[in-house]
Amino acid sequence: MQKKILITGAAGFLGSHLAKKLVEKENNFVIGVDNLSTGLLNNLKDIIDKNNVSFIQADVSKKEIIDYKQLQDVQEIYHLASPASPKFYQAYPLRTIAVNTVGTQNMLELAKRNNARMVYSSTSEAYGDPEINPQPENYRGSVNTWGPRACYDESKRLGEVFCYEYNQRYQIQVKVARIFNTYSAGLRNDDGRVISNFVTQAIQNKNITVYGDGTQTRSFCYVDDTVRGLLLMMEKDQAIGEIINIGNPQEYKIIELAHLIKKLTLSYSQIFFQPLPEDDPKVRRPVIDKAKELLGWEPIINLEEGLRETIRVYRGKMGLDMNGELKIEN
Ligand code: UDP
Repeated sequence: MQKKILITGAAGFLGSHLAKKLVEKENNFVIGVDNLSTGLLNNLKDIIDKNNVSFIQADVSKKEIIDYKQLQDVQEIYHLASPASPKFYQAYPLRTIAVNTVGTQNMLELAKRNNARMVYSSTSEAYGDPEINPQPENYRGSVNTWGPRACYDESKRLGEVFCYEYNQRYQIQVKVARIFNTYSAGLRNDDGRVISNFVTQAIQNKNITVYGDGTQTRSFCYVDDTVRGLLLMMEKDQAIGEIINIGNPQEYKIIELAHLIKKLTLSYSQIFFQPLPEDDPKVRRPVIDKAKELLGWEPIINLEEGLRETIRVYRGKMGLDMNGELKIEN
C-alpha cells in the first residue's frame, strides 16, 4: 500500500526539495498543492512525470480544498504553503495571513477527517526581534504587530495556535517546526533573501548590497539538513504536540557572510551599504537541544560547504563561468 502524502507549497523552495526526497521512495505517493503565487512549477520539473506524484494548482486558504477528492485518505500533511521571503510576503500580505491562518485550519480539518499526521512550517520569525540570543522554543518572542513583517510573523504564530487547539481538542497528531533561515541554489534568483542576493551579485561582480551596517546576525541551514529535520518531525511520535526549532546554530554577521561569499566566488564586487529595512531582527540563532533530543537531528552541512554548492549551482543556472563571464557553449 502506498502512503499518501500531501505537501502544500510543493512548488516552493522547501516544498519542492521535500517532494523530491519523498518521491524517491516508491511506496510514497506525493500530492503537491500550490497556487503558484510565489512557487514555480519549474521547481518540480524533475519529478512531475513520475508515477508516484501528482500536482494540483489550488489555494489551501479556500474552504473547498478539504473536499477535493484527491486529498481524501491522505496520511501525512506537510503544510509549507506561504510566501517566506520578506520581499514576497510584503508584496502579498493578505494572502500570507490567509494561508497561515485559515489555510492552517483547513489542513488541520483535513488531518482530522483522515486521521492524518501533520507538520506545520512555522518560523524563527515567531521570535520577532528577539531580546535573548540564542532562542529556545519556550522564549515567547518580541513581535511588532504594527509593521511590515507582522503579516508573516503574527500569522505564523496564529497558525501555531490553531495547531495547539486541534491537538488539545481533537488529539490531532500535529508537530510545529520553527524553521530558521534555510538556503540553497533552489532559492529563486529574485527571491530577495540574503544568500540568493549576495551569491548572484558576487558571481556577476555586481555590488553586494548589505542592509544597515551588517552587524545583524542570522544562522543559515542548508536545505538538505532542513528537509531531513522535517522528515524526522513527521516520523517521530515524540514530536507530536511539540514546537521544535529546525535551524543551524552557527551564527554569522551579515557583513561576515558578504565577505565569505566574496572570497568563495573570487569576486571583484564592492560591498555597498543600504538602509536597514524596518523591524529587521538584530540577532537570530536557534537553540536546537530539543531537536537533538526528540528527533536525533542536528545539521551536518556547515556554511562554507553549503555555500560552495550553492555558488556552483547558481553559476550553472545563470550560465556563468568562474570569472562571472557568460559561458560560450561550443
Ligand atoms: N540582507 C542584506 N542584503 C540583502 C538581503 C538581505 O543585508 O540583499 C539582510 C537583511 O536585512 C537581514 C538579513 O540579511 O538582516 C537576512 O535577510 P533575509 O531577507 O534573507 O531573511 P530574514 O531573516 O530577514 O527573513
